Amino acid sequence: MVFAHDTEVALQSAVTLANSALEPDTLQTIEQLDAFFTEFEYTGRRDHDRAELAAVRAIRRQLLTLLTADRDEAVALVNEMLASAGAVPQLVRHDVWDWHLHAVGPERDLPTRILVETAMAMIDVIRSDEMSRLGRCADPECGGVVLDLSRNRSKRFCSTTCGNRNAVAAYRARRAADR
Ligand SMILES: [Zn+2]
Ligand SMILES: [Zn+2]
Repeated sequence: MVFAHDTEVALQSAVTLANSALEPDTLQTIEQLDAFFTEFEYTGRRDHDRAELAAVRAIRRQLLTLLTADRDEAVALVNEMLASAGAVPQLVRHDVWDWHLHAVGPERDLPTRILVETAMAMIDVIRSDEMSRLGRCADPECGGVVLDLSRNRSKRFCSTTCGNRNAVAAYRARRAADR
């Protein structure tokens, strides 16, 4: 494990959310938001309405910017996010989880909690100087974010779709060169 478990989950969920804005957009319905919430084991307030969905969709650009920023830019963005949410780190224990950090209460709206959790996770990334774990997808057409938590830092594509598309393109290019 590169980071603490809760940091890795927060980073994975932020990357998934940022990449959901790529074509085709995979966060267009309340059901898709439900699936995201469940997959990443979020807890706390859910409004289950169009306004909440729109507000979560609206933070995706901000997440993409943070996740692909350079280290100094990321510091400024993290500090700004924490300050504007009035974040106060507190150790909490709830549901099945032992003591861990939350910086805003469970009654705050979902997009605010996601932003603050991402910012808290980025604190670990920045402090351990591991920004190279985050980057842009190697597919130049994609624009997605890649989170590489592998030991040998081998992950280049944001998704298997991008990986497969590039493998096929590389194969075709080799065949064309052979002819
Ligand atoms: Zn928690
Ligand atoms: Zn990609």
